[in-house]
Amino acid sequence: MKLNVNSIDRFTKELPADKDVDNSRRQVEKACFSYVTPKSPKAPSLIHVSTEMLTNLGLKEEDGKHSEFLDVVSGKTVLPNTKPYAMCYGGHQFGNWAGQLGDGRAINLTEIKHNSKIWALQLKGAGETPYSRTADGLAVLRSSIREYLCSEAMYYLGVPTTRALSIVLSGNKVLRDVLYNGNPAYEKGAIVSRVAPSFLRFGNYEIFASRGDKTTLKTLVDYTIKNHFPHLGIPSKKTYLDFFQEVTTKSMDMVIHWQRVGFVHGVMNTDNMSILGLTIDYGPYGWLEGYDHNWTPNTTDSRHKRYRYGTQPQIVLWNLLQLAKALYVLIEDATALETILDTYRIDVKVGQLAMMRSKLGLHNTENFDDQLIEDLEKVLQLTETDMTIFFRNLANLKKEQSNNWFNTIEDAFYKPQEVVGAIKENWTNWFKNYEKRLSVEIWTNEERKNAMNKVNPKYVLRNYMAQLAIDAADNGDYKVLDELFVLLKKPYDEQPKSLKWFAKRPEWARHKVGCSMLSCSS
Ligand code: AMP
Ligand code: MG
Repeated sequence: MKLNVNSIDRFTKELPADKDVDNSRRQVEKACFSYVTPKSPKAPSLIHVSTEMLTNLGLKEEDGKHSEFLDVVSGKTVLPNTKPYAMCYGGHQFGNWAGQLGDGRAINLTEIKHNSKIWALQLKGAGETPYSRTADGLAVLRSSIREYLCSEAMYYLGVPTTRALSIVLSGNKVLRDVLYNGNPAYEKGAIVSRVAPSFLRFGNYEIFASRGDKTTLKTLVDYTIKNHFPHLGIPSKKTYLDFFQEVTTKSMDMVIHWQRVGFVHGVMNTDNMSILGLTIDYGPYGWLEGYDHNWTPNTTDSRHKRYRYGTQPQIVLWNLLQLAKALYVLIEDATALETILDTYRIDVKVGQLAMMRSKLGLHNTENFDDQLIEDLEKVLQLTETDMTIFFRNLANLKKEQSNNWFNTIEDAFYKPQEVVGAIKENWTNWFKNYEKRLSVEIWTNEERKNAMNKVNPKYVLRNYMAQLAIDAADNGDYKVLDELFVLLKKPYDEQPKSLKWFAKRPEWARHKVGCSMLSCSS
């Protein structure tokens, strides 16, 4: 049997390759990628395949069960007539220029064309590349499950994201110091095959600008426009500016979606910012449980909390500024670039307001909506209040029954006994204002509920849920993984048989490693 995919390779055909084919760690200049062969896994075994992604790539469900599929997605063999490669990119990490980074443990297999769509297929954790720096090019089971489940969950929540095709065990052991505290241990190695129209990041452009390599920068930007923004037309200074405008708009849409569903990326470095505005590189991400603007799941960032929930929209702007600086070399019009960034500042506020209106079921636009929302954000943080449960249950409130608010949202409080005195008063006032605001709405209770339930998910991949799937998988049991994979395909549906997942984080998970505390070690 042959895996029958329509491989095409735009990236390697149209962009300059590293002339050195030796797989040694080094600085790679004047090239967008280096050819590299995946490491042969010791004893690969399949954990899970996405039937939907198989179909998207023109494969059948049966193909996913075949040993040839396992060989390809574990890096054991390479698809015929393809030459895998790792991309060269740089990045700003935690606010500082970090120089060359690149695909240190991601290997692109090929691009696949099916139904007039083109998908890049990439293995994460399939061995070292010239960009691996001091690390091993591998990934462990826990972080691979987190990426596999979360990218698909995000897709079904309507958040732009890279996708996942499969997850396999490599059969290799991988050494990791989970909390960077001098206690390394061996873990199971795993490989996720992931899929996106492109895995290009801001850092792919920054690296050439930082090296003064205008020629390669222009080649890459022209390539990106031709293949991913073809409607912008023939490259010119005007096209480059339009390109930057589109990247800005797409990145803004993405981050507003993150805020809507309570997703915290955790490592918003410019090497983790997709040029297509996709959520990319699922590392120490997390989901808000208690609504808290200051929360970040990333223990590596626990001091400065640069990438906390509340600052994500500002960080996108900072990252766009770095991209603007790189593209300036081609555009040479700082005022025009600044205008786009200034417009982002306004648009992101407008976008967030519209998003929050939709979460509250407000159809009309009224003058003091921003105040109502600001007040809500404050009152939500007075005592630990579960974001997902709060907004989902809020849809059950009936107009003119706001005095019944406590019963409606009680389940969202982690400590309902704290909702007394001033906290209770604050809530009561907020609900009075909300009721007043609802009274000028045209929607009936039912219409409002339906609209709200389309933007406020019932099920998200809570941090402890991923951990339960990981713990079971570590013991060779993939049932929880599959259950969550299926559940999260319909995050807005009631799914009454799955109500156990519509619940607050259990107490045992509050301070557990992997649930509320995650590091970049993966
Ligand atoms: P991240 O912030 O996790 O997206 O990774 C930042 C950079 O480190 C990227 O260039 C990754 O390819 C690289 N990297 C992360 N983990 C590893 C690893 N285990 N082996 C090699 N490179 C890695
Ligand atoms: Mg990354």
